[in-house]
Order: sequence, then structure tokens, then C-alpha cells
Amino acid sequence: MDYNAFFQAHLDRLRDEGRYRVFAELERIAGAFPRARHHRDGTVREVTVWCSNDYLAMGQHPVVLEAMREAVGAQGSGAGGTRNISGTNSLHAELERELAALHGKESALVFTSGYVANETTLQTLGAMLPGCEIFSDALNHASMIEGMRHSRATRRVFRHNDVRHLEEMLAGCDPERPRIVAYESVYSMDGDIAPIGALADVAHRHGALVYLDEVHAVGMYGLNGAGVAERDGVAGKIDIVQGTLAKAFGVIGGYIAASAATVDFVRSCGSGFIFTTALPPSIAAGALASVRHVRAHPELRVRHQERAASLKRKLAAAGLPAMPSATHIVPVFVGDAALCKEASDLLLERHAIYVQPINYPTVPRGTERLRLTPTPLHGDAEMDRLVDALRDVWARLGLATRAAA
Ligand SMILES: *Cc1c(COP(=O)(O)O)cnc(C)c1O
Repeated sequence: MDYNAFFQAHLDRLRDEGRYRVFAELERIAGAFPRARHHRDGTVREVTVWCSNDYLAMGQHPVVLEAMREAVGAQGSGAGGTRNISGTNSLHAELERELAALHGKESALVFTSGYVANETTLQTLGAMLPGCEIFSDALNHASMIEGMRHSRATRRVFRHNDVRHLEEMLAGCDPERPRIVAYESVYSMDGDIAPIGALADVAHRHGALVYLDEVHAVGMYGLNGAGVAERDGVAGKIDIVQGTLAKAFGVIGGYIAASAATVDFVRSCGSGFIFTTALPPSIAAGALASVRHVRAHPELRVRHQERAASLKRKLAAAGLPAMPSATHIVPVFVGDAALCKEASDLLLERHAIYVQPINYPTVPRGTERLRLTPTPLHGDAEMDRLVDALRDVWARLGLATRAAA
């Protein structure tokens, strides 16, 4: 087989469909968020970033940077091994205690990323609970899907956020078998929110464990920033909560928080936890500082929500097709892969604004969009500039001003 020809043909097909991914090379500027330098063809230009998942700009908060610098100076770069073999640091342990406290759970366990936390936990539970069935929301993230697949447990998919459908599926299954119900709180492409408590109640009525991915909510919702389950007063109904240290907390790493036995089980049996080097101590220090800061500053969350509401208002007033969203995520409908890419290119070239196009398979075909993520540091003037730029691009490309989907 001509392997390179095979790879090339596949890439050509992606290009023809307008969904070949081109990465923008950005150089972030600590202290100047949301500004960054865009590198292309040997030139460098300053742009405004409107699609970062560094939702609260904690990735450059002085408290985080100082904690990281100090830990590098004191302890050096790497962790020195897996958590089993010389890699467990006092900072990892402290971070896990902090995360358990944040979520009101007995224990927490840190992984190298949120992806690995989802994949490892679901794989381990699905594989080791005898005859386990996993009930999964139709729009669950790839990391959960991969974990369920690798577990070889039976996977049943319920319609997105559909409590009745979940209930029907659970009622139709063998009540003796262990089961897990897995879903997210905030879905990151539409910005909608799950009926967390209602799904958990149905799951528990049928003897299932409740697994909730709060990746797009930790730091941003609830009085302490523990997520939407905290905001809605249903955190106690969640058996296993999963989060990331890389989005609102601005660093890297993922975690679960749950009962002591659950966490100890995953710690003891989870391949993706056991057989990989632990996060550097400086990362644990930065994440710890970030979680503590975000937890203690609810006004950050108020400002974040206010910024998102302002942007939605401004888009609506300008006749731009903002899609309905209950959260800080503000998708703007395009509905075509090639046009979506073109809109993103024009924003960058003509207006020095960076927004990544969101195409299939991240979202269904025909619902391609630009996904805006206003942060507490996106000011009114920047917002007005964005809205003017979008109007210019919409006019140039003849894009619809109503979301068709
Ligand atoms: C980004 C994301 C993850 C993975 O988290 P990382 O820390 O980036 O690996 C998991 N779940 C959802 C829903 C995500 O969007």
C-alpha cells in the first residue's frame, strides 16, 4: 500500500469539503489578554482572540503565574515519575484536597487532562463493574465516548437532555445489572444546560451511578465556582463529577471528585492514571492557586455572565444570527462549512479578530458556526468592534441573519 497517497487522498477530501483544519499560530501575551500575536508566513500581527476556552483569563493571572514560578524555582520542571513511582508530590495531594472540598466530595483524583480523566474513569468503571451498561447523552464529548468504547460495556445513547427517553431506556433494561448515566452540564457547542437534577433522579431511581462532566462549568457557575450542579443545588445528587484545570482555571490537567471508595478504585485500577507521568509540580501549584482564587471571587462569575449577556444583546441589535444559548458560550450561525471558514479568514485578515470556525464533525453538517467566548476581560469597545466586523463579513459573504437550525 502507498500509505502517503492514502493519507493525502483523505486530506484532499477534507479540503474539498472545506473542513481541513488550519491552525492559527498565536503567541499569547501575558498581561494583555485577549490580545495575541498572530504568526503567519514570517509576519507577526496583533489580533484580538474571541474563541479562547481560557474563559476567565486565569491563564495569565498574576496569582497563577507567581505560584508556578515559585514552584519551578523550588522544585524544578517535571514530576519525576508516575504517581506510583516517585511522582506523587505534596502539591498534587493538596490540589486533590482542594478539588474535593470545592465539590463537597470525600476525595478527588487529578489526571494529566480532562480528556484522560473522562476516558480513564469511564473505561475503568465500565470494564470492571460486572455486566455494566452505560447510558450516554447523544451529545457527549469524544473523551467520554472513547472511554465507554474502550470499556467494552454496553453503551446506550439517550436523546440529548431527554429525561423521558433516559427513563424509558432504563426501565427497559435488566435492573440487576450495574449501570452508569453519563452526561455534561454545559454543552460547549450550543451553550445549553442539562436538566442535571432530573436526569440524576431518574438514574438513581433505577440504581445507576451518575457521572457528570462539568468541564465547561467549573470555575464559572455556582457560588464557589463548583459548576452548574452547585448553582442548581443538586451537587449532592452527582456521584462522580469530572472537571478540567485547563479551561476556566487556565492551566492544564483534569480530575474527578467522588466518594473515597470510587476515587480509590479509579486510582488503583485506572490505566490512564497509573501508567503516565504525573503533572509537573509547577502545574499543580498553578492550578491550586487558580482554583483557590476563582473559588474566592464570585464577582468574576458575575462579570463573566454580564459580558456574555452584553454580547448577545449587541449581536441581536445588529441583526446577527446568535444561536440561543443559556450560558457564556455565544454561537453565531453560518450553516455552511466553506462559508464558515471564509468568515473566520475574513475576520482575521480584514479585522484582526480571531474566531475559529466550528465545522463537522464537531457540530452536525448544516449547523456550522462561529463560537464566541466573551471573558471578563473583553470590554465594550472590543465587543463593538467585533460586532461591526461581523456585520462587514456577513454583508461580504451574503450570510443569513437568522439561524436556520
Ligand atoms: C475540553 C473538554 C474535555 C477535555 O478536557 P481537557 O482538559 O481539555 O482535556 C472534556 N469534556 C468536554 C465536554 C470538553 O469540552
